[in-house]
Amino acid sequence: MEKQPDYHPDFESWPPAGTQTKPEWVMPEWPITIGRGIIGRCPHCGAAPIFDGYLKVHKLCLHCGAPLGDMPSDDAPPYIAMLVVLHVLALFVIFFYKGDYHPGLLMAGFLLLMLALICMAALRMAKGAVIGVLLKLGLKREVPNG
Ligand SMILES: [Zn+2]
Repeated sequence: MEKQPDYHPDFESWPPAGTQTKPEWVMPEWPITIGRGIIGRCPHCGAAPIFDGYLKVHKLCLHCGAPLGDMPSDDAPPYIAMLVVLHVLALFVIFFYKGDYHPGLLMAGFLLLMLALICMAALRMAKGAVIGVLLKLGLKREVPNG
């Protein structure tokens, strides 16, 4: 006969009580947080821009001081941008191979230019949204040695 393990309250919920870090910032609801990120405004206050340039993030929000620069968005924004944009591109590829669509050289060049611009815009929007999600979850980058 097997011995039943002793009941331990810490194993009843995950993560164990006391180990979960709360976000330092009281954030708005999810749609507002993500929407502000998509339009490039601070997900916390919405009053200042996230970006200092094209993709460089301000270390702290210029209005409320939220730690925007500590959010490790890493590879998520390019992944999301490609996921969205390449689904639109796939439509053109399918039309082309079915023989329904034959762009001239000028139109093909224009479409390539539009694709590049849309990718750039989508990357910036995705990065803003990811920073918003990370800020709401309180997932700051680990700082080595303190
Ligand atoms: Zn702010």
